[in-house]
Amino acid sequence: MPDRTSVDTRIAIIGGGFGGLGMAIQLKKRGIGDFVVLERADDIGGTWRDNSYPGCACDVESHLYSFSFALNPDWTRSFSRQPEIRRYLRDCAERFGVMPHVRFGHDVRAMRWEEDAQRWRIESSAGTLTASVVVVATGPLSDPVVPDLPGAERFRGVSFHSAQWNHACDLTGRRVAVIGTGASAVQFVPEIQRRVAKLDVYQRTPPWILPRLDRDFSEKERRRFRRWPLLQRLHRARIYLQHEALVVLFRHPRMMQRAQRVAFRHLKKTIADPALRAKLTPGYTMGCKRILLTNEYLPALGQPNVEVITTGIGEIRERSIVDRAGVERPVDAIIYATGFRPTTIGLEARTLSETWVGSPKAYLGTMAAGFPNLFMLLGPNTGLGHSSVVYMIEAQLAQVMKVLRYMERAGLSSIEPRAEAQEAFVAEVEGRMRGTVWTAGGCASWYLDVTGRNSTIWPDFTWRFRRRLSRLRARDYLGRRLTEAR
Ligand code: NAP
Repeated sequence: MPDRTSVDTRIAIIGGGFGGLGMAIQLKKRGIGDFVVLERADDIGGTWRDNSYPGCACDVESHLYSFSFALNPDWTRSFSRQPEIRRYLRDCAERFGVMPHVRFGHDVRAMRWEEDAQRWRIESSAGTLTASVVVVATGPLSDPVVPDLPGAERFRGVSFHSAQWNHACDLTGRRVAVIGTGASAVQFVPEIQRRVAKLDVYQRTPPWILPRLDRDFSEKERRRFRRWPLLQRLHRARIYLQHEALVVLFRHPRMMQRAQRVAFRHLKKTIADPALRAKLTPGYTMGCKRILLTNEYLPALGQPNVEVITTGIGEIRERSIVDRAGVERPVDAIIYATGFRPTTIGLEARTLSETWVGSPKAYLGTMAAGFPNLFMLLGPNTGLGHSSVVYMIEAQLAQVMKVLRYMERAGLSSIEPRAEAQEAFVAEVEGRMRGTVWTAGGCASWYLDVTGRNSTIWPDFTWRFRRRLSRLRARDYLGRRLTEAR
């Protein structure tokens, strides 16, 4: 007879960022206290703890990029900077009593489902524990990737990834190379450009850039939001609807030309040199990769101490980088702004990555067939190119809470989606994806997996995702009672 009393905790949440904390708060709100949050670092905050590069900010307005159940009337500007978002997350964790549940320094390395005991065995850097249910909330972008460039190991200067910013290194007056021109680079390049002697920006693909309509909130506005929360709700709803309207452009690539014209105007206004402008002009449809919002990046590239190099990197030497055209440029520091590798946790016997063979699939982006009692926040096809992923997380939390309640009511010891329900959902997503800018945009991006499938993006209105996850279709799930377990 399986002994479920030996389970250390009912629910183990892996990761203390937006997803993990949101999950923990929902459990607390429903009076469930038997859970832990396993956090590999020594503080909560996830991506907003790790990314502390100069200029780090969210490119979705804070009034939308925050929990609907914990609105913050005190955002100081429309696109808040990293320290403010990090503080917001800590405030939420403290306000809802989550902190005592957090176990720091627990880097989860492997998990094994024990069929007899109907529980997960979790191996972490701080020891082993067992849980009936696991919620993976590690975030899709938590492991920085540094490309394997020829000769990189010989480099004698300072080098680091943008997500592991070396704050001890003073870049003032130094010759700096930045590799990559994605969402992180466009935020820190203008910040360091003013300080460094020379800045070489190695661009592989030019990003589409739109102006960012950022502004401060006055004390009076914040007071109004505090006094009348409905005003803040309306403000949030307005931002939400503006973002949702963009989905139409993503779904009909030809309509993207309007937004592209705005980007071209911005480029023309900020970059006078036609040769540089040509280098910075994308050759694919906008939205195929993440659209970047910044007012400062392009003007920074036009400064005399900046060179944009598009010939590719041939090799890295002890104190220089040689491009593919053979031009050698001396550098003191290299900053890799080269993005992240999607995270997978080792599940013994059969890993999720083995099951997925490079192409992640999940039921509602939240559970995978064959993996009982395992939830994933921001799993396959839940990413967005146009709005706030916190909204997607909240939709998932609603489904997780429904499944947990259903398990309790039906006396189930385990639950997983039926393979056919998962296949139907994946087919539905692929149907919605067809003809959108994410598949027909003519670019390579981290949205596409090794099979060329877009397994990252939710290709539709977010309210459709939320509506879909607000209901539990019991017939889509396969539940087992303790006595039925082997
Ligand atoms: P990213 O957007 O994936 O950009 C990586 C950059 O590095 C790209 O320009 C890429 O070029 C380049 N690159 C990668 N490997 C290279 C190589 N071997 N040689 C030369 N260039 C190389 O990474 P990120 O800027 O760190 O942003 C990652 C994600 O984090 C974003 O997409 C976004 O979802 C999120 N983010 C969000 C915010 C926010 O404000 N909400 C801010 C920062 C980041 P290619 O384009 O040619 O691949």
